[in-house]
Amino acid sequence: MIVHLKENIRKESAVDIANDISGKLIYDESKYIIITSSKNNILPKKYENKVDKSFIIDSDIQLSSKKYNKETRKVKINNIEVGGDSQNTLMITGPCSIESKNQIEKCAELLKENGLTTLRAGCFKPRTSPYSFQGLGLEGLKMLSDIRDKYGFNIISEVKDASHVGDIIEYTDIIQIGAKAMYDHGILRETGKQKKPVLLKRGFGSNLQEFVQAAEFILSEGNPNVMLCERGIRTFETKTRFTLDLCGVSFLKEHTNLPIILDTSHAMGYSYGVPDLTRACVAMGIDGLLIESHPNPSKALSDASQQLNFKEFNDMYDSLKPICKAVNRNLI
Ligand code: PEP
Ligand code: MN
Repeated sequence: MIVHLKENIRKESAVDIANDISGKLIYDESKYIIITSSKNNILPKKYENKVDKSFIIDSDIQLSSKKYNKETRKVKINNIEVGGDSQNTLMITGPCSIESKNQIEKCAELLKENGLTTLRAGCFKPRTSPYSFQGLGLEGLKMLSDIRDKYGFNIISEVKDASHVGDIIEYTDIIQIGAKAMYDHGILRETGKQKKPVLLKRGFGSNLQEFVQAAEFILSEGNPNVMLCERGIRTFETKTRFTLDLCGVSFLKEHTNLPIILDTSHAMGYSYGVPDLTRACVAMGIDGLLIESHPNPSKALSDASQQLNFKEFNDMYDSLKPICKAVNRNLI
């Protein structure tokens, strides 16, 4: 249940009501909102005169539900918007990992040439092996910050664990929570306590309910700026790295009010399939894409097989424009 208290209700009284009905309390623009478990859907009569509106929702997909808010949320990333009535499809690209100043400068030039706004690069990499490249860490974040100063891009980078969540919040414009970190409640709560946009990736072993409930941890701390990212789930298939769940994307579009970003690079795992898959995603009418690109993919220190070289990226990017037009989206 989601309860909007009347605007004149003060904090002490809101806290008392939230405690009494075992709900979470957030302050949203001008009013307090209490969210309770979907199993607890009865508002005691004594509070009726303090309530402006209430929403009974039969699952713990609550703040993110279309039953609560019919429109997709508008998420502002500095000077750009996704969701809401924007009809934007945001192209986010860059290398899997920032590796050097020289490499990231080349990536920045690719974005500039195409008029793109949002650069991604990982600094704290959640690798499957402790012996492979783990990322440049804080040094990488500082390089990204210099690139932002020089080019004016929005920067997105991932938080891997709670040890550097503060640095990621400080240095980025969008906080990426990776697939392996989707269940890390410390990260979810910390990113929920501030307002920068969060791109939450789906854990590759998570079902849609678990995925969206992870987003609820962020939303219910008071950060309304959450985007969901489908990046492939693990199935019995081994010929591709993961299986991109486009049925799941339809579910998310129908039932949630969060912008949806598609990461075809990690789903496919091989660069040859990324352009086709991306075209299919764009045709679904989505809010954004996350595509790995690298000046020299075969020499990349992580995810070498799936990153597009710049020619492959440019060809794919050009081919997306008519598809976006056909589904009434602006590719930005
Ligand atoms: C990444 O974006 O480089 C990454 C590691 O992704 P994921 O968390 O989806 O595996
Ligand atoms: Mn990667």
